[in-house]
Amino acid sequence: MAEPNYMENITGVFGFPVAENPTGVMQNAAFQALGLNWRYLNFEVTAENLGNAVLGMRAMNNFRGVNCTIPHKVAVLQYLDEIAPSAQVIGAVNTVRREGDRLIGENTDGKGFMRALGDDADIDAAGTHAVILGAGGAARAIAVELALAGARQITVVNRSHGRGETLVRLLNEKTPAHAEFVAWAGAYRVPDGVDLLINATSIGLFPNVEDAPDIDFDSITPGMVVCDVIPNPPRTPFLRRAAERGATTLDGLGMLVYQGAIAFKMWTGYEPSIEVMHTALAAEFGG
Ligand code: NDP
Repeated sequence: MAEPNYMENITGVFGFPVAENPTGVMQNAAFQALGLNWRYLNFEVTAENLGNAVLGMRAMNNFRGVNCTIPHKVAVLQYLDEIAPSAQVIGAVNTVRREGDRLIGENTDGKGFMRALGDDADIDAAGTHAVILGAGGAARAIAVELALAGARQITVVNRSHGRGETLVRLLNEKTPAHAEFVAWAGAYRVPDGVDLLINATSIGLFPNVEDAPDIDFDSITPGMVVCDVIPNPPRTPFLRRAAERGATTLDGLGMLVYQGAIAFKMWTGYEPSIEVMHTALAAEFGG
């Protein structure tokens, strides 16, 4: 008989607020499906206690990794031993993994998007022209991963000039892609030749689920891949209208599952079941 082992490996999320973060539902389902003695917990950590929380994590050998969400994605960098290359360019960490005594910062948000693009739409980003609506954290992560994967041109469309211009400068200085900023004023018309159109704004987020980004939907063509970061509900008005124009669509639920699956693999070394994670999260979202 195997020796009893009452020590679970712990992962989780540091955030504030954190009670409504559903990530644990899909991670715990995936641990269970593989028979792993691991658990994902939500930890309420205020901004001033982040350093102490990371120290606590370091002190507990079976605390194997953690996600960081609002307000810790940038602040956590100072407490880590190493930052992965794309997380360095993005300037934010959403996943911390452990290698022996070292804590390494990663960003799986953009990587989740890239995996959805490759696995679900069979798209290679190399040589593409992408239009990204938004210039916040999600837009930044997606834009950097697209650029590092060889996207030729990235157009950032954003309401506030400051954030949009900052992202464009970052892309032009730190990646091989050519980036340009377009100030968002009135219905945005997608230019000819665009391969990817991504809503990376929070427009459509619950409870405003009927809102859609202000674009000219007639400028969407059947050859385009149109993506939304909004995970709940995943079939947003933006994606519905893009599908009506014949575009291929990718939803934010898929991206959320993939970014979690990438973190899972980083922590455990095992490939989780995407289906188990997707089903668990979709059920939680009532879909
Ligand atoms: P931020 O607050 O950092 O950025 C929000 C962006 O949305 C900004 O560019 C902002 O523009 C823009 N925006 C918000 N409201 C409007 C509006 N009414 N009109 C035009 N632009 C608007 O948020 P995040 O980037 O962190 O998150 C964005 C979304 O991505 C959230 O809904 C989040 O849930 C989702 N997300 C999904 C993930 C997934 O895996 N599916 C992963 C990470 C995030 P401005 O600069 O002008 O304010």
